Amino acid sequence: MDENTLKIEDLFLKMPLYDKLELNSALEYKLVDILRFSGKLDMFCVACNKESTFTGFDNLTDYVPGVSYSSSSSRLMEQVFTLPKYFSHKKVFTVKLKCSRNENHLMLFNFYINQHTLIKIGQYPSLMEIAHHTVRKYKKVLGKELYEEFNRAIGLAALNIGLGSFIYLKRIFDHLLEEAHKQVFAHEKWNELEYLTSPVQKRILLLKNHLPEILIEKRELYTILNKDIFELTEEECLKYYPVLQGGIECILAERLIDISREQKRRELEKSINSLTEKKKPVKKK
Ligand SMILES: [Zn+2]
Repeated sequence: MDENTLKIEDLFLKMPLYDKLELNSALEYKLVDILRFSGKLDMFCVACNKESTFTGFDNLTDYVPGVSYSSSSSRLMEQVFTLPKYFSHKKVFTVKLKCSRNENHLMLFNFYINQHTLIKIGQYPSLMEIAHHTVRKYKKVLGKELYEEFNRAIGLAALNIGLGSFIYLKRIFDHLLEEAHKQVFAHEKWNELEYLTSPVQKRILLLKNHLPEILIEKRELYTILNKDIFELTEEECLKYYPVLQGGIECILAERLIDISREQKRRELEKSINSLTEKKKPVKKK
C-alpha cells in the first residue's frame, strides 16, 4: 500500500489480510479518520448482490471525547499528545458499515495496531467473496473455464500470492488478445509477421481497433507480460496485479456492452417483424 495515496476504500477493499502498513505520525492522524469513519462509501453488497452505498456507524466512539477538531492547533495537539497514547492503549479496532438498502447487511473490518504498524486482521465479507460477486457478470463473456481461472486468480491475490494469481491473469489476458487478433487476422492489410514478432505492448497497439482505448494509452504498463515466468518476482506480480486485472475487466466490460447492444438490436428486429406481420393484409380465400 502506498501511504501517500492511501484511501479509505483501499484499506477496506484492496488491502489483503495480514498486510502491514508502517505508520508515521501523519498517517496515524489520517488513520483516526478512517477508524472513526461515519461517512458514505459506494461498495458492492454481496447480500443485495449489487452496488450499494454503505455508511459507517458506531465507530471509535471512545476516542478522546470532547476534543474539538475545529482549529488546526487542537488537531496538532491531538496528533502530538493523544494519538500515540491512545493507539498504545487500544490496539484492536473494528470498523463497521451498513448497507443503505438493508441495515442488516454489514461490512466489518478489523485492524491491529502493533507499535507503529497497522495490520489488517479481519474482514467480512472477505475480499474474495466481494470480488467473486463483482466479476460474476463476466461469466458469459469468459466461458466456464476462464471464468473459473479468473476466480482462482482473485482468490490467490486475496491471499497475497503474487506469482500464482499473475499466471492465471496472464492466461486470460493472452486469450482476450488472441480473440481480438482473430478478428483482424483475415483482413487483407493485416501484417501477421509484424504482429507475431512484436512484444505485447506493440501487439496491443496493432489491435487498437478491437481493444479499449485506455489499454492502448497505457500499453507500456503491460510490458511485464513479455517476461518469462522464472524472471518474475512475487513483489512484481503483486504490484502489477491490479493493472492486469483492470485491463482484463475493461476488455470484458466492452464485450458485455457489445452483447447487450446486439441483444437490443435483435429485440427491436423482432418487434419490427411482428409489427409488419400484423400489417400484412389477410389473404382472402
Ligand atoms: Zn445490501
